[in-house]
Amino acid sequence: MASILIKNIGTLVTGKLESPLRAADSIFIQDGLVQAIGNGLAQAADQVIDANGITAIPGLIDSHSHPSIGEYTPAQNTIGWITNYMHGGVTALISAGELHLPGLPLPPDARTALSVAIVTKKCYDNLRPSGVKVHAGTLLLVPGLTQKDFDEIQSLGIKLVKFIFYDYSLLPNGEANRYVDWAHARGIKVKIHSGGVSRSGVSQVAGFDMVQKIRPDIIGHITGGPIPMPEADMLRIANETDCFMEICTSGNYRLALSLARAVKANGRYDRVLIGTDTPGGTGIVPRGILREIAFLSAVGEIPAEKSICMATGNVGRAHDLNLGIIEEGRPADIVLLHKITGSVSKDALDSFAKGDLPGISYVIIDGVVQVAGRSQQTPPPERAASESCC
Ligand SMILES: [Zn+2]
Repeated sequence: MASILIKNIGTLVTGKLESPLRAADSIFIQDGLVQAIGNGLAQAADQVIDANGITAIPGLIDSHSHPSIGEYTPAQNTIGWITNYMHGGVTALISAGELHLPGLPLPPDARTALSVAIVTKKCYDNLRPSGVKVHAGTLLLVPGLTQKDFDEIQSLGIKLVKFIFYDYSLLPNGEANRYVDWAHARGIKVKIHSGGVSRSGVSQVAGFDMVQKIRPDIIGHITGGPIPMPEADMLRIANETDCFMEICTSGNYRLALSLARAVKANGRYDRVLIGTDTPGGTGIVPRGILREIAFLSAVGEIPAEKSICMATGNVGRAHDLNLGIIEEGRPADIVLLHKITGSVSKDALDSFAKGDLPGISYVIIDGVVQVAGRSQQTPPPERAASESCC
């Protein structure tokens, strides 16, 4: 596999909250992995990219996505959305369930839910649209699943299950809590749809009490997707639990600001994840993750390099995936970006801090250049990176 040397990086964002910025201007990539990070690296490489002083960040991860079939989304009868998201800096998508499949009975019975998860997982394992890593096959938890079913999804590498359609009036029989135990015993994370009813019309409402009863790992779109739980419930989850909490593009911005203030007060930036909760009724939003980072930075007044961690390293850690961090030995998923001409900001981080989107110049996934020069979805950055000869 080709090697790449990126030189003249202006600012390097790591995706790690404990050290979000690293003083280095070069990254050497080989065999799809970051091999070295430093100043003035000069390794011989097949491709040399002159970053021209702009910013490098980890590839963005959409913590809450709804893939269905390849790049087609039945939610909007549209094709090509994954490539468009990639041009918005997204290098990995985490499925929150393949529930937009046309005609899928909702809620599905146990065999149908399991079958959809298996088929989707196997398809995306075999398909990387524009290089994007699609973590699909998220099992929708419904009554009647067996421990053998959990064995099967574990053997396929499925790492996430989700409560959304489960009839919570059945909680006294203990099945839902057994599901959580079975998942955790197999290294599988549990997500819950929170807040009001979604577009399906049959998702179950869940707030603080349900979270206490089920004890999931990740609260899906805690600030709404589209309808959030009551603000007091959200703040109790923020202050009284250790769950990861998603802020999604599809949600309620008043509550997103309230949550930003709560995590700022309790210092728990490590628990916040950014997703879009699309494709769905909100549409297809290729720049959705960039917009959430800008909102949390500019309106939520969270330092931009930390907001970026919420869409990169935090998401990888929450889902137990080796994603979202620029570090030696990690997958080389890197985005180069800079301020857009006309923005009052001075660079990419300052753009986020002022509420502007930056423009993307390069997207690299597993050490392969997917976007070179400029993105088709953002305006061009004022200064672009370029391939330089040797
Ligand atoms: Zn969703």
